Amino acid sequence: MFAQIIIDQDAKALDKVFEYKVPDGMDVKEGMRVIVPFGKRDLQGFVVGLNENCQYDEQKIKPIKEKVEDFSAIKKEMLNLMKYMAEKNHLKLASIIRLFLPAEMREGKVRELFETFYSLSGTEVSVGKSAHKQQALLEYLKSERSASSSELCEKFGRSALSSLLEKGAICQEKKTKRREPVFVEEDDKKVTLTPSQERAVETMCENETYLLHGVTGSGKTEVYMRLISRALSQGKSAIMLVPEISLTPQIFSNFKSRFGSRVAILHSGLSAGERFDEWKRLFSGEATIAVGARSAIFAPVENVGVIIVDEEHEQSYISESNPRFSTHDVAIFRARANKAPLVLGSATPSVESYEKAKQGKYKLVEMPVRANGKELPQIQIVDMVGELRKGNSTIFSSQLISDLANVINQKKQAMMFINRRGYSSFMRCRDCGYIAKCTDCDVSLVYHREDNRLKCHYCGKQFKVLDRCPKCGSENIKQGAVGTEQVVHELHRLFPDVKILRMDNDTTSTKNAHQKILTEFKNTLPAILVGTQMIAKGHDFENVLLVGIIDADQSLFHADYRSTERTFQLITQVAGRAGRGALAGKVVLQTYAPRHYVYKFVANYDYKGFFRKEENIRQTAQFPPFSRILRILFSDKNENYVRDLLKVCYNEIAKLKEKYEGEIFYLDAMKSPIKRIQDKFRYQIIIRMKLDKADQIEKEVFDIVDKASKTSVFFEVNPQNMS
Ligand code: ADP
Ligand code: ZN
Ligand code: ZN
Repeated sequence: MFAQIIIDQDAKALDKVFEYKVPDGMDVKEGMRVIVPFGKRDLQGFVVGLNENCQYDEQKIKPIKEKVEDFSAIKKEMLNLMKYMAEKNHLKLASIIRLFLPAEMREGKVRELFETFYSLSGTEVSVGKSAHKQQALLEYLKSERSASSSELCEKFGRSALSSLLEKGAICQEKKTKRREPVFVEEDDKKVTLTPSQERAVETMCENETYLLHGVTGSGKTEVYMRLISRALSQGKSAIMLVPEISLTPQIFSNFKSRFGSRVAILHSGLSAGERFDEWKRLFSGEATIAVGARSAIFAPVENVGVIIVDEEHEQSYISESNPRFSTHDVAIFRARANKAPLVLGSATPSVESYEKAKQGKYKLVEMPVRANGKELPQIQIVDMVGELRKGNSTIFSSQLISDLANVINQKKQAMMFINRRGYSSFMRCRDCGYIAKCTDCDVSLVYHREDNRLKCHYCGKQFKVLDRCPKCGSENIKQGAVGTEQVVHELHRLFPDVKILRMDNDTTSTKNAHQKILTEFKNTLPAILVGTQMIAKGHDFENVLLVGIIDADQSLFHADYRSTERTFQLITQVAGRAGRGALAGKVVLQTYAPRHYVYKFVANYDYKGFFRKEENIRQTAQFPPFSRILRILFSDKNENYVRDLLKVCYNEIAKLKEKYEGEIFYLDAMKSPIKRIQDKFRYQIIIRMKLDKADQIEKEVFDIVDKASKTSVFFEVNPQNMS
């Protein structure tokens, strides 16, 4: 027997399948981890196939040394997924397999914990009258049947335990101990489904992809839980993805209260041991519901009955670091492999997904009203340029201040949202609202502090920093955004007696910090929560009557063709935090561009109108989903090497432009906007092409680059970030 093996090393030269002999008597199965001799070393590898016959020269083939464990760590479905991802995303096999296993397991750092349990042996022994503790221990075991060593020692002392063991009165057994993450369990609200929830649950049962478009507060979580219950009752498992750690504590609590220990949680906020044990619980079938962030899509569950991607429009579903993949693609692959429904849920679906629904590739399911029957909060747009003219140059408009005062008087709560995305920012005239844009690409220029320049992330063009507004001549043209600290400071000044909480990257770096801040907020009246994107999603606080959006434009003029879409999504999400209880809510949206079309649609909760407008613009400008952008990123410590490589690849790709006439309408090679990271020089090629031949062209591009390069090169389709 011969085994096809992938070596667990992240090197381009090792990125192929190697053949080894299976020694007689060794029971090797597909998906197992093994140790094989490689050159002078012994390396870990994964068995991805088995063959009776040898494909190469049998004399030269070495035998497998040993198995790492006795089971297949990678299940069959995942081996197929590996092949699919390698082809689709042009990734190294070993790097894909690493996604399937917890890093702790691959590196052998974390092991399963075992604990000793004791029970009565059935042998009657005499215990002296004075040995109260031994008596009590025996009584305890009589009623509890079995208890762990740590529990018994704590209750009755170690010596009582050991003397009973010596006498043979009790016997011991080793059991695995699981480190389960702890969550506050909330009361499980048993609700009757609304008619649209009921329809949604009934509809979404086929082997199809559904786009669940439900307004904020329409009760999507309840729908997800019903779908999962149905899958469990059919004896199947379920995967549910949530975008990021910020909203997970609440979701996890809800799921734990409904499904108990059948839920396993996978996300980066867990300790290594917890993550490993949760993975094992899923792997062994002890738990059948995987809930977690992006990487939970690789949960080792079998016989999947439903896959749910909550807030499907979220950027965090596309991995920006290597290996780069799209969670949607993987979810679709797994859903089809299991013949299970895939549910993509959102109040603001991505333009890409909605376009697919429009074309019939996804089935659209709508929940247009809130589950409690309440109206969505009113959104009032405040023109900050007008505020300036009136002489108010502070962060808060007079409208926002009076609404805040009002909420505080009623002893209720407000959330202040600071729109901050990434490190970059644009230049804006504070007097007329003018924004510096690229003359060629019509996207906003990004200010780069390191060389004090404005750069276009699409074509690489650079511009001098403006000291005077080209539109109105004002010198009040600035770069930079308001920070959370500044807002908190200002609020303290305005409302010295009110509890003000802050939630951003700085205040949430420790474990469970999110949970603590949110719990404190929940229990304080009145209170104001100031935060970034983290407070935008998921939270369901009934006392929040007001949401203030300090500077809505921050995501609007980002150098990204998706920036309008992002803004629409973010604002709709944040707005959805207001008025979730009995009293009506309100949103005050502060902007320097009050006439931008996105705000009109946002204020009317008109997703469809927004989609039509955006679709039109993207179609005209030939941006995705009506074209495909391929970014090829080269980076190396040796700048000459990258530059030469870039040139060679560019010249070859340029030939494709002739071969596929009219299909590639943009091709350029440039320095990346951030030209050096971790001592590596970065250059990139950007290709924008029509959809018809995109797959074919992409394959040819992969081949060109692979042939030319001796190191890894990163490919990204429709990149989220061009820096
Ligand atoms: P979404 O995720 O769609 O924004 P949620 O799932 O957070 O909405 O639900 C909003 C609120 O409505 C929650 O407090 C939830 O408990 C409640 N809810 C959901 N379904 C129902 C129902 N059928 N009847 C009453 N309340 C419901
Ligand atoms: Zn101006
Ligand atoms: Zn440009």
